[in-house]
Amino acid sequence: MYLPGIGPRKADVLKREAGISSFEDMLHYFPFKYIDRRKINKISDIRSFTEQARTDAGMPYIQLKGKIVNFKTVGEGYKRRMTATFADDTGTVDLVWFKNIKAVSNAYKVETEYILFGKPALFNGRINIAHPELETENRFFGGEAGIQGQYTTTEAMKNAFLHSRAIQKIIISILEQMKEPVAETLTTEVIRSAHTISLDEAIRNIHFPTSATALDRAEYRLKFEELFFLQLNILQVTKFSEKRIGGFRFTTVGHCFNTFYRKNLPFELTDAQKRVVREIRADMNSGRQMNRLLQGDVGSGKTLVALLSALIAVDSGYQTAIMAPTEILSQQHYSTVTQLLKGIGVNVCLLTGSTKKKERETLLTALAAGEIHILIGTHALIESNVVFSRLGLVIIDEQHRFGVEQRSRLRDKNETPPHVLVMTATPIPRTLAMTFYGDLDVSIIDQLPPGRKPVKTIHISSSNRENLCRSVRRQLQQGRQIYIVYPMIEESSKMDLKNLTDGFETTKKTYPEYRVSMIHGKMKPAEKNGEMQRFVSGETQILVATTVIEVGVNVPNATVMMIENAERFGLSQLHQLRGRTGRGASQSFCILLTDGEPSENARRRIEIMTETNDGFLIAEEDLKMNGPGDIDGTQQRGIPFNLKIAKLSHDGQILNIARDIATGILEHDPTLTKEENAPLNSHLQKMKKQKKAGWFMIS
Ligand code: ADP
Ligand code: MG
Repeated sequence: MYLPGIGPRKADVLKREAGISSFEDMLHYFPFKYIDRRKINKISDIRSFTEQARTDAGMPYIQLKGKIVNFKTVGEGYKRRMTATFADDTGTVDLVWFKNIKAVSNAYKVETEYILFGKPALFNGRINIAHPELETENRFFGGEAGIQGQYTTTEAMKNAFLHSRAIQKIIISILEQMKEPVAETLTTEVIRSAHTISLDEAIRNIHFPTSATALDRAEYRLKFEELFFLQLNILQVTKFSEKRIGGFRFTTVGHCFNTFYRKNLPFELTDAQKRVVREIRADMNSGRQMNRLLQGDVGSGKTLVALLSALIAVDSGYQTAIMAPTEILSQQHYSTVTQLLKGIGVNVCLLTGSTKKKERETLLTALAAGEIHILIGTHALIESNVVFSRLGLVIIDEQHRFGVEQRSRLRDKNETPPHVLVMTATPIPRTLAMTFYGDLDVSIIDQLPPGRKPVKTIHISSSNRENLCRSVRRQLQQGRQIYIVYPMIEESSKMDLKNLTDGFETTKKTYPEYRVSMIHGKMKPAEKNGEMQRFVSGETQILVATTVIEVGVNVPNATVMMIENAERFGLSQLHQLRGRTGRGASQSFCILLTDGEPSENARRRIEIMTETNDGFLIAEEDLKMNGPGDIDGTQQRGIPFNLKIAKLSHDGQILNIARDIATGILEHDPTLTKEENAPLNSHLQKMKKQKKAGWFMIS
C-alpha cells in the first residue's frame, strides 16, 4: 500500500492493530462516532463538564478556539512532559504532551490562533487536555456540514502518530487519488429494492458527510450491505440448502406415546406444551427435515416436550439422541426419563465422558444394533465412534452452550439428516435467531405449569446480611432447601475458589443443624455428581456452588437462591440461576447480594432482575446492554464475517429488509449461479475469506 506519509512502520501498525492492509480496508475503516465541529466551546464552560465527569466515564470531547500563551518542558526521564497554556477570551486551560515532545514543539507556535480539539480531564484539581489536536483555522476540516468522523485508534496506533485525525487525512488522500468510483458490491436490482445509494456515495459520506441526511443514508447502505450478505449466507446454507429437502417421516403416534400419555404422565400438560408437541409432530411428519428451536422460560416444562417428541420417533422406529451441556444435567435427564418411562418398554441409556470403557463398548454395540431407543448424554454423543443404527431425532438441551459446529456435526451423523430440536431457556431475540440459525422454526412455551408463584427477587448489600440468615433459617425449618452461588471466572479462579470454600465453611458454621454440599467445576465429575445427588435427594439441605448448577438442574423443593457478588454475573446468568427456584408450589426467593459500590451497569442488571421475571424482556435487555456477545460467546464465531457497522442489537429493522431481499433472490437462484447474481456471489465468497481475528470484535 503506497500512501504519502505512510512508511512501512505505520503500514505495519495499521495492519497489526486494525487489520488494514489495503486502500479498500482503509475505506472500510468507519468512524465510530461523529462530532459537530461547528460548535466551539468556551474555556469557562469546561468546569460544568467536570461535574458531569463524576457520573460519566469522563468528560466529553470539546472544541476550543484560542492561542497558546506559553510552552514549558517539565520533569526528567520518563516523567518528562511538555505543557502549554491555552487561552481564549474566557480563561485558560493546560495542555500536556507526554510523547513526541520535539515534534510538537516544532509544530505549534505561540500567539497563533488554533482550533483545539480534545478531551479535558481533571488532574490535581486543574483541568488539562492531553495530546490535543490543534489546527489553524484555515486548515480546519470538518467536511461541508461540519460533521467530523472520529476513528477508533489503539495505543500503538497513537504512538505511531496514527490518531483519528491522521486516519482521516489518509482517507482524504485515498479518495483524492482514486480515479474510479468505489467498486459496487450490490447489483442494481438489490440497490433498487433496498431503496439505497451506491457504495461510492456511501463510503464518501460515511467519512465526510455532506449533511446529516447524507450520513444517515450512508449508514443505512453500509449496514444493509453487511446484513444482506450475512443473511444471504445463512439462508443459503440452511433454508435453501439441498440437504434440507429430505427428512424422515414419522407417521405413527403409537403404542409408546399413547401408553405414556395415558398411564405415566404425572400431570396434565399445559396448553402451551400441547401446542408445541403438535407443532413438533406436524414438522416431523412433513417430509422435510425439522429444524426447530423450542424456547421456554426456565421451569416451563421443556423436558416433557422433549420426551414426547422422542416417543414419536420411537413409535416410528427411529432412535433419539438427547444431548445436554453438562454431565450433571445428562444424569438428571436420564433419571427423569427412565422414571417417567417405567413399564413402557423403551430402552434408555446414558453416555457421558465418565462412562466406563467396558460399559461404553457394550452400549455402542447395542446402539449400532438399534437396541437403544433413546440415548442421553453430553458432548460424548458427537464423537465419531458413536454410531446409531437409525438416528431420527436429535434433541439439544440448553443450546447456548453448543456451538454451531457441534450442532452440525450431530446433524451429519446420517445420510438423511435427523430432525433437530434445540431447546433453550435463554430466549434468543429474533434478530439473533435469524442471524445464527437462518431458518430455525421457533416454538414457544409461554406458560408455566399451574400453581407456580413468581420468584420474589430481593437485592441486599453484603453488609446487611444478618437479617437474611434468620429468613433463610426459617425456610430451612419449613423443610425447604437453598442454593448459595458464588462467581467463578477463569481469570480469577484461585481467588474465586477460595471465596467459595470460605463460603462453604461459613455456611456450615452459620447453619450447624443442617447439612451442606459443595460443587464447583474443578471437581471430578463423579465427585460433583455425588454431591449433586445428595442435594437432589434431600440428604443435604444447602448447596454451595458455582454456576455449574446454572443449567437445567431441577429440585422443586429448593426455594431460596442466594447469589453472592451478584454484581459479577451477567443478566442471563442471573435469570437462569433464579429459575432453579420457583419450581414447586411454595413461594421462592432470589437474593442478590452485592459487595461495595456496583458499577452503573451492574446496578442496572440488578434493577432489571428485581423488576421482572420475564425471560424475554431480560434477554432483550441483555442484548441492549451487551450486544450479542454476552448471550453466547460462540456466536461471534458463528457468523462468517465480522460486522463493522451493523449492530444486531439495534439494526433489527434493516436486518428484516435484508432478509426479505435475500430470500427473494435465493428463491429464484438458491446457488447464486445465475449471471445476474454473479457479483453477489463473488463478493460473498470474498467476504468469507476475509474474516479477521479479534480487533473488530471489540465494538
Ligand atoms: P425446563 O423447561 O426449565 O427444562 P423442566 O422440564 O425441568 O423445565 O420442568 C420443570 C418442572 O415442572 C419439573 O419438575 C416438571 O416435572 C414440572 N412440570 C413440567 N410440566 C408440567 C405440567 N404440565 N404440570 C405440572 N408440572 C409440570
Ligand atoms: Mg431444562
